[in-house]
Amino acid sequence: MSQKITLVYIATSSEELYPAVFNLKAYALSRIKDRKIKIETKIIKPTKLKRINNHIYRDIPSRQINSISDSILKKNPVFVGLSTYVWNVDLIFKVIKKLKNKKPFLPIVIGGAEATYNARKILQKNKNIDIVALDEGEETFVDLIRHFLYKKIALTEIKGIAFKKNGRVIQTQMRKPLDLKQMPSPYLTNLIKINKGRETITVETSRGCPFKCAYCSYNMFSYAHLRFFPLSEVIKELIYIIKQKPKKINIVDDNFNIYDLRAKKILNSIIKCNKKILITLFIRADIWPIKKELARLLAKPYFYLTVGVQSLNKKTLFRAKRIHNINSLNQNIKLLRSLKANIILQFIIGLPGDTYKDIKDDINWAFSHQPNDIQIQTLRVNPGTLYEKEAKKYGITYRRKPPYTIFKTNTMSQSELKKSEKIAQLFQMLYRNNTYRKRLSYFCQKTNQPISVLLENLKELNQYNLFFLPKNMVIKIIDSQIRKIYEQPTSLRSGF
Ligand code: SF4
Repeated sequence: MSQKITLVYIATSSEELYPAVFNLKAYALSRIKDRKIKIETKIIKPTKLKRINNHIYRDIPSRQINSISDSILKKNPVFVGLSTYVWNVDLIFKVIKKLKNKKPFLPIVIGGAEATYNARKILQKNKNIDIVALDEGEETFVDLIRHFLYKKIALTEIKGIAFKKNGRVIQTQMRKPLDLKQMPSPYLTNLIKINKGRETITVETSRGCPFKCAYCSYNMFSYAHLRFFPLSEVIKELIYIIKQKPKKINIVDDNFNIYDLRAKKILNSIIKCNKKILITLFIRADIWPIKKELARLLAKPYFYLTVGVQSLNKKTLFRAKRIHNINSLNQNIKLLRSLKANIILQFIIGLPGDTYKDIKDDINWAFSHQPNDIQIQTLRVNPGTLYEKEAKKYGITYRRKPPYTIFKTNTMSQSELKKSEKIAQLFQMLYRNNTYRKRLSYFCQKTNQPISVLLENLKELNQYNLFFLPKNMVIKIIDSQIRKIYEQPTSLRSGF
């Protein structure tokens, strides 16, 4: 009789397809050749789940938790593994509680970033969780199968886990980073079925990051070592995925262009077979000049380049341990825009060192480059980050639960943070609409004022929930407010 293991991933949107649990399965199948073992990958998509605050699951009706847990138990698994991260962890804990109510002796293992950096706390607080898999999970998953199904290895011998024994949390030795040559592609091994035109497919071409940004947790343990998937496999995988015609492809490496030659080879092979599938890439534009040849490839109309700027304040970036060169950044953005590349600029509100004025400077700078989109998010003090350790030093107070957003820092009071968030929200909302964007550009030119001053004076807009106002009403408000300013240019004042 076959023995089953169920791996669960709860997606943050019905379109997202993230390969984490498929990677575990692909790796385990390459290591354990036993046909009696069946690994079920269960992707739960939140079509009917309530989403608040851009992805956080709260107040999920118990009926739904019940049905999720029933579907997990349906195949009577020997153990269940759940992949956690900041956006799904609340829901995962509720599902686990239900699973344990129904089957008290079913072993529950959780993994992923949210579990790795909180392992001790989670095990101490949550009696329903048996094991936390730390860091990269592939090899650990193989050992857990050996433990639960073959009884061949004791928990204490499995590297990279934390578990409770006699009320004490035991953490075993961490593993060495996984050799990515040993990692089969879950796409090329047909473990993932791609629905034509419907999903955003996530692809890793490398793992880890050599940098140490203080707000980031993607650079710990194994992930402190930048490793690449074999180039030939990456190219094969991307060509295969493009042929399946997904809605979008998301290449998640934070430093895609760090090696110019490798990036060019990957881009050239995509360009040969892609006509119109949108592909998002994270590129570093703030370290050194991007060469023209690479920029030309990146400027193809279906690439969307996400550029993390975070802040323009040198001292802030220094504190954040963010390696940067503002001149290179300016030069690269200009070059990419001159080639008509699609660019998304990202900023963080509330980095220690930044003030409300810095946020306005960021907005003015971003607006001057006219990227395709601008994303501004409040700083989150994620578990495991340097800012978590140094929160006191920088006067950071923050929510102790996901999404870990800050309340204040030494340089930004609570009210300044609110003010910064308001102006950023207003800016993003207006910038994302072509009509409003043109309107603002026109008035900036006319009044010879930076965009932040105009935004500050759009007081009336600020009072409403922008997303619910009809477009013509927003335009009316913009026009009437700006006309007032234009008629009395000397009376421009901060309005927030
Ligand atoms: S923010 Fe990006 S560059 Fe910085 S450490 Fe994290 S992954 Fe690396």
